[in-house]
Amino acid sequence: MTAGKATVLLEHHLKQLKLPAVLREYGKLAQVCQAEQADYQTYLLRLVEQELLERELRAKERRVKAAGFPVLKTLSSFDFNAQPSINQLLVRELMRGEYIDKRENVLLIGNSGTGKTHLATALAFQACSQGLRVRFTTVTSLVTRLLEQRELRQLERFHKQLEHLHLLVLDELGYVPCSKAGAELLFEVVSRAYERCSLIITTNLPFEAWTEVLGSERLTGALLDRLTHRVHILEANGTSYRLAESRQRLKRSLPKQP
Ligand code: ADP
Ligand code: MG
Repeated sequence: MTAGKATVLLEHHLKQLKLPAVLREYGKLAQVCQAEQADYQTYLLRLVEQELLERELRAKERRVKAAGFPVLKTLSSFDFNAQPSINQLLVRELMRGEYIDKRENVLLIGNSGTGKTHLATALAFQACSQGLRVRFTTVTSLVTRLLEQRELRQLERFHKQLEHLHLLVLDELGYVPCSKAGAELLFEVVSRAYERCSLIITTNLPFEAWTEVLGSERLTGALLDRLTHRVHILEANGTSYRLAESRQRLKRSLPKQP
């Protein structure tokens, strides 16, 4: 076989086998390995490693996209000094992800602007990096979706999709009160997640006020019972980061007093 024909065939097979990194790198790497006098096995190993690395990266990108984060936030941009009430040690421990292996939940409680969504996103993004299936949603949009799916008689299918996740983030419980049907559907999600997948819930409400949002005392009790059976609680009782930032900006823009 001529060298030209072998190249054409090789590249065709690599495309069919869906090995884009091998296809792109095999020529360059052959030169590098030749210069280094590396053996065939090392050459092949490096090629395969490159393919694996890129495959993992693409899978992570798909998981992040499927998670539906409103804005991507990581822990590196979180300033713990600005929010000293947050238990930094616990956040760092949670970043290791063992709570998901143990199907434990995380509750982030605090006023608006204290970084709850930021931290929930950082934790969930980390879970994506660890190869886990994640979904991020606000409580309001989840409830809307549940009502829609029920209308379409697709509720069971939707629940099955949720059960397939390792981690479900429910952002902003308490901003909008749920209807009776909405609260019941939300309860079913929490109930089915119990011991199957982890939940991260962010809320501006202390436990005593949850009944106001969910409507029924009995349902709230049952929901809290499941949710808090194995839970890590992160409380932020500081002031709003946004507010502090805009105050700073305002201060800088005002002319100095003589
Ligand atoms: P919450 O969900 O508690 O209302 P967010 O997480 O949405 O608050 O925070 C509001 C904004 O302030 C976001 O842009 C977030 O990234 C930023 N923010 C909040 N707290 C911090 C912090 N401690 N360090 C850095 N950025 C923060
Ligand atoms: Mg928020």
